[in-house]
Amino acid sequence: MRFGFHISISGGFAKIIDRALTKQCQTIQFFSRNPRGWAYKELDAVHAQAFRESLAATGIAPVFIHLPYLPNLASSDDQLFKRSVNALSEELRRAEALQASAVIAHAGHRGIRSEDEADERVSSAINMAFAMAPNSVKVLLENTAGQGTEIGYTLRQLRHIVRGVSDGSRIGICLDTAHAFAAGYDLSTKPGLETMLDEFQSHLGLEKLQLLHLNDSKAPLGSHADRHWHIGEGFIGRPGFRRIVNHPVLQPLPGIMETPRKTDREDFNNMSVIRKLSHY
Ligand SMILES: [Zn+2]
Ligand SMILES: [Zn+2]
Repeated sequence: MRFGFHISISGGFAKIIDRALTKQCQTIQFFSRNPRGWAYKELDAVHAQAFRESLAATGIAPVFIHLPYLPNLASSDDQLFKRSVNALSEELRRAEALQASAVIAHAGHRGIRSEDEADERVSSAINMAFAMAPNSVKVLLENTAGQGTEIGYTLRQLRHIVRGVSDGSRIGICLDTAHAFAAGYDLSTKPGLETMLDEFQSHLGLEKLQLLHLNDSKAPLGSHADRHWHIGEGFIGRPGFRRIVNHPVLQPLPGIMETPRKTDREDFNNMSVIRKLSHY
């Protein structure tokens, strides 16, 4: 498995690659702008080209961009929905300019709508964004923990959204291990992992699984609480991660860690733990 981290964009794009190299990333994810606001600066063509060139020299691939926090593709508020679609299409364009193969998006929050209605809203948001950004960048829908009115925490819901997307070649799934565990998929055990993968195959087809977010969970099974934790130190545990990273279906996928970080030391440690586990 190729391992990497979600890399901070603070200080600009130029810093991303140095940080990624320091942390021995073979694959990376980042925000293309401040994730806590709506505003963005136009992407500078010279900076984008410099980024692509230094990226190519490192061999780091694939590269992913995460949609910022504010867009809600399931929103029942027409204005927020429109802004969210615009934000997604903008990220698809920026991803192309930055040589990222996919944009990672959470399905969103259903608010007062039913889950089924919200799922359909998300599919239409993705269809609209694809029409506005007609390139080959994919959207990878990330499973959620199902916190509050969050949707997209079951494979059945993800299937419902994926089926509503017209261009099947541009839609895939990013599986976050901490979210799946909190949503009730017991990835800490062998039967739990196999059951989840069987369900994935029957609902979506395993070819739709294109990225893993490798996070341990500080929240218990089925708690619907989204609390990422250090690899091997949460409820999924070392044996759980050993099975995940070495599983024949999962081993060829890129694995991005979004583990807590106060300093780089935590990242160094998580990278060393996951690499050791992957050698069994
Ligand atoms: Zn995410
Ligand atoms: Zn994630």
